Amino acid sequence: MSYLFNPPPVQSLAIRGKSDRFPINRLFFVGRNYHAHAVEMGKPVDKSVERPFYFTKAPQTLVDSGSTVAYPAETQNYHFEMEMVIAIGKAGFRVSQDKAHEVIYGYAAGLDMTRRDLQLVARDKGRPWDLGKDVEHSSVCTEIVPMEGKILDQGAIALEVNGETKQSSDLNKLIWNVREIIADLSLFYHLQPGDLIYTGTPEGVNAVVPGDKITGRVAGVADVELTVGAAQ
Ligand code: MN
Repeated sequence: MSYLFNPPPVQSLAIRGKSDRFPINRLFFVGRNYHAHAVEMGKPVDKSVERPFYFTKAPQTLVDSGSTVAYPAETQNYHFEMEMVIAIGKAGFRVSQDKAHEVIYGYAAGLDMTRRDLQLVARDKGRPWDLGKDVEHSSVCTEIVPMEGKILDQGAIALEVNGETKQSSDLNKLIWNVREIIADLSLFYHLQPGDLIYTGTPEGVNAVVPGDKITGRVAGVADVELTVGAAQ
């Protein structure tokens, strides 16, 4: 078998303490999963009558923590979103909440970088979010930290830009927690090893400009960094 041109490389992340890398299958993102962020976006969530929703990004949008990425094209409002990331290590379909831990390989700290101006236009016109969310180099992620079978349901999550705190919250404020997300998402998708789930961002999202340095962390997991380079 030969291809007309070289196929795209498999995306992967380092694994803390291991020489093997974690190959990436799909990137899932939970929308509006902290109340204070949902409110700042003008879309409060009533969990009693709503279910979580998701969007995806291409695995090719993945970029290692510590990178410098160009300020992306066609936006005047490029936002950071600090998120805890679940790394799936086993296949699962219709996983019950009480078995959700069984599919977890580990966790990471990530940034869901967003062309907010384009996302809001899409949202308000009822269009897909791709131009706002599926942005090249927008899925920033640290190494995967192995924590097989462990549920993370509390711990600080925070982000600074140029050393100034912009986001500071706790995983215990997730509207849909890790068990609930895995149970719900696996109703729609056959989860596979290599899937990452970005679990949503707390309040305080805002714009960055070229030259800004983003630092963030999920306590007990990892620290994430990104430098915003010049516009292309
Ligand atoms: Mn997000």
